[in-house]
Amino acid sequence: MELAAFAERARAIEAESADGEIRERVTDLLTAANDDLPVVARYVQGRVFPAHDSTKLDIGPSLCYEAIAKAAGRNVAADDVEARVADVGDVGEVAANYDFGGQQGLAAFGAGGGQSDDDGLTVAEVDADLRDLAAVEGSGSTDTKRDILFSLFNRSEGDEARYLARLVLSEMRIGVGEGAVRDAIADAFDVPVEAVERALQVTNDYGEVAVVAREEGGSGLESLGLEIGRPVGAMLAQAGTVTDALDDWETAAVEWKYDGARVQVHHDPAGGVGDGAGESDGPNDRTRLFSRNMEDVTDPLPEIVEFVEDALDAPAILDGEVVAVADDGSPLPFQEVLRRFRRKHDVAKAREDVTVEFRAFDCLHAAGDDLLDDPLVDRHDRLEAVLGEAGAPALSPLHLSDDPDEIADIDAEALDAGHEGIMLKNPESAYTPGRRGKNWLKRKPDVETLDLVVTGAEWGEGRRAELLGTFLLSARTDDGFETLGKVATGITDEELEALSDLLEPHVLSEDGADVDVEPAVVFEVGYEEIQPSPTYSSGYALRFPRFLGVREDKDPDDADSLERVERLAERQ
Ligand code: AMP
Repeated sequence: MELAAFAERARAIEAESADGEIRERVTDLLTAANDDLPVVARYVQGRVFPAHDSTKLDIGPSLCYEAIAKAAGRNVAADDVEARVADVGDVGEVAANYDFGGQQGLAAFGAGGGQSDDDGLTVAEVDADLRDLAAVEGSGSTDTKRDILFSLFNRSEGDEARYLARLVLSEMRIGVGEGAVRDAIADAFDVPVEAVERALQVTNDYGEVAVVAREEGGSGLESLGLEIGRPVGAMLAQAGTVTDALDDWETAAVEWKYDGARVQVHHDPAGGVGDGAGESDGPNDRTRLFSRNMEDVTDPLPEIVEFVEDALDAPAILDGEVVAVADDGSPLPFQEVLRRFRRKHDVAKAREDVTVEFRAFDCLHAAGDDLLDDPLVDRHDRLEAVLGEAGAPALSPLHLSDDPDEIADIDAEALDAGHEGIMLKNPESAYTPGRRGKNWLKRKPDVETLDLVVTGAEWGEGRRAELLGTFLLSARTDDGFETLGKVATGITDEELEALSDLLEPHVLSEDGADVDVEPAVVFEVGYEEIQPSPTYSSGYALRFPRFLGVREDKDPDDADSLERVERLAERQ
């Protein structure tokens, strides 16, 4: 396809505002693309490389302005281009209005597509040149990149230059999103949109999916699978409560939420996983690591590569979190991990400064089997199996529970161990790459805490029989105190002992395990929700209350009032 033909269609698409019209025009474009289908399917969304490919053009605005200025002739400087862009706010509009092509002689020196000067540019030539440009490295690379770009501008005019400039600066903006291309692939090649969607999730490559849809139809799309070394989008979580989880699924899979950075591990003991750029037949040829944005982060994380090499002896794709740990094994804030991710030089030194470890929570592929459609619990079993004994320390435990109190205990343990809290997952759910859905919930942090007075307690059971274990909480009113919940979670054994010592002098009466306590001690309490409830005298109940600490600085008179509780309940 000629670049001019692509540009004309892009211009027509840009002029449409209705989704249906855009979809139709993209469908026509894909149908007309012939051999250039993979490239056109990407360019129309302003993408030069597939999403799984972390190759970058690395063209900043100034380099682009210099190339435009050079193609525009002797009288134009990069500053002039910049000033015009600042004025009209669109590099495409500026490029389209220069009169390029006067530099034919010079163009021959550019890397060009090897075409004679008079030929119109084709999409394939642009793609070949942009790939060459992305591959340029080392000293003088900026000059070479500018020359390649100049040569492309020099051979383009009007709308060709408009979309070329926007493409190389990732500013295509013709109103074509991923959904429009997905739908257009389905329409153009008469395949079910669900099959296109699934194929896009596993390949992350619009070009490849478009070609397979055209050549092999729906069944071809269905046979596309994961490929080791090619990252897929990470499944994402949304905020939710324990109540949401148990209402929807009855049983929740509960995991610790690690405060680190997401990493997808791709490993094949037989090799061939590398991108060809680095060593082959070395660890990087067998193991690659990708960030949540699908950037290759193998090189900055050698100890994770070493761990994977040691633990895995079958091909696998794992999902997990890289965490930074202190010398005593406790987690460090995630900024420490990010620092490691960004490190390009002196990795060995960085490694000495901050130790990182892998926590694996999902398995997308194991020993030849794609597991995306398997239930979470089965994927976790496969994860445990592929990690084996050597990898066991990295396995993130998964607890199945239908009991809010038990979940609260896991949450308290996670917080005590220095983690962020918990994730709640639907045990039966499939892995949906790149999607944020209801099957993974990150437990909402407590909204606002309440300072409540302890007006009762219960003796514990078993080994805690000598200690007060559950505490009745009350809010202040003008006439005294009204109850609104009991808290028993979030309290360590040591804290229980201290709390028993603190409260025993205030015990008024006992009836079996129940104890009446004179209002004296104020607890800071977290919760998920305040609900109207007949169970307590205030008419409200706290969902999921958690002990956060004793407000030693507060008397019962300073505790939160029932009025504040009512206000918070209304605001939810
Ligand atoms: P957020 O970044 O707050 O949207 O929370 C979601 C992120 O938590 C995920 O993308 C992961 O990077 C991270 N995470 C930590 N632990 C887990 C876990 N056990 N399961 C899933 N995601 C986790």
